[in-house]
Amino acid sequence: MTSSSVRTRFAPSPTGYLHLGGARTALFSWAFARHHQGTFVLRIEDTDLERSTPEAVQAILDGMQWLSLEADEGPFYQMQRAGRHKEVIAKMLAEGTAYYCYSTPEEVEQMRESAKAKGLKPKYDGTWRPEPGKTLPPVPEGRKPVVRFKNPTEGAVSWDDMLKGTITIENAELDDLIIARPDGTPTYNFCVVVDDWDMQISHVIRGDDHINNTPRQINILKALGAPLPEYGHVPMILGPDGQKLSKRHGAVSIMDYEKQGYLPEAMINYLARLGWSHGDDEIFSREQLVEWFDTRNLSKSAAQWDPKKLNWVNAHYIKALSDSELLDHVLPRIHARGGHTQDLDMPAVLNLFKDRAETLEQLAENAMLFCAPFQPAAEELQTQFLTEDAKRILAGFAQNASKLEAWTSEALDELIKQTLSEHGIKMPMLGIPLRLAVTGQKQTPSIGAVLAIIGKTTVLERLQNAI
Ligand code: GLU
Repeated sequence: MTSSSVRTRFAPSPTGYLHLGGARTALFSWAFARHHQGTFVLRIEDTDLERSTPEAVQAILDGMQWLSLEADEGPFYQMQRAGRHKEVIAKMLAEGTAYYCYSTPEEVEQMRESAKAKGLKPKYDGTWRPEPGKTLPPVPEGRKPVVRFKNPTEGAVSWDDMLKGTITIENAELDDLIIARPDGTPTYNFCVVVDDWDMQISHVIRGDDHINNTPRQINILKALGAPLPEYGHVPMILGPDGQKLSKRHGAVSIMDYEKQGYLPEAMINYLARLGWSHGDDEIFSREQLVEWFDTRNLSKSAAQWDPKKLNWVNAHYIKALSDSELLDHVLPRIHARGGHTQDLDMPAVLNLFKDRAETLEQLAENAMLFCAPFQPAAEELQTQFLTEDAKRILAGFAQNASKLEAWTSEALDELIKQTLSEHGIKMPMLGIPLRLAVTGQKQTPSIGAVLAIIGKTTVLERLQNAI
């Protein structure tokens, strides 16, 4: 299926749930690969042993699966590639593009302080950096070294960012990055470089919180003689209040949206619009997204999370579902509420509420009008609305209803109209007592349709009880 050299990756660190920003980055990388008939790689960056958890790995896989962002390759686990990372470090040490550094963290801190005091950029001072003709200090006994990358000191590193344009950083600004810790474990930035290289990633699309890593990663790739991928740094997502999107703004884990009753297709559509556009199109399918996806249409400024718009998009996708798809989505939610769905015309139930529902949860909640056991209306409501007069009118209505041959919402609406004109009354005078008697609630969707769904026997029984 893959027929081009375009290879993108999503490389989450499993330190928490898959959040909206991560899901959007995954979506852009996926859409870019699909657009170019390329390959989308999933790589779990689990080298931070303290912060990575198996639950977080699972949450990422679940989120990707829910959104149907299928990887063509992977998931690869960075930890399982430790041997390869160490091999590359050994090679760099041998070639002189990396070196052992025995300075302690305290010493490095002092170097930074004294550079700052001189008005210079706080940096490691290069004590252990080998240079032609330079004699290195004697190795302190028993001390384990870190490995540092020998960053170029001259010139600059520059790339044409797919979103931000040309970015140039003077090499003099960059430290000799630590690429292996004293225990020999490679550091984060280094693993990313080796993996992007080995996995032949052609386009790195990621959050712009990684932009500071890019010049360092490029320099290491160059030192390895590796081809450079293109980079695109996507601006972050802001909350409705303009602050960085966080837990304060409600659900941030992608799977919370599943729980709240959002459809994956709606989520994909909404997330895609959050930082990408195709003219004024607001609603588009996954296939259209793939067809249209172009990094030139990615927004250069931060996107703003808008829950109302997400609801609007979700409502659209709910409306577009077929009866059977809708049932598949909503039945489990009704059952989870203890609702019964046997002997009910469930498509008719859902169709009553479908046009106004913003989420599947709302729809399930509304459907409980029919699926929950009947609860008589509260005492005060009964006293207020089920008056002697009202009961007399209901009795007449019940009698005529019992004679109805076709128990349809049209026939029932017709009978309601007749009853109103017979008694010279307005709709609420029949509608409210009727609703209270039959559903226990004062407000429901169109009463004819509600009675039709509840069914003749039950309606007449409840009317009798109320009268
Ligand atoms: N693992 C990084 C993160 O989850 C992403 C690294 C990358 O995309 O280069 O933030």
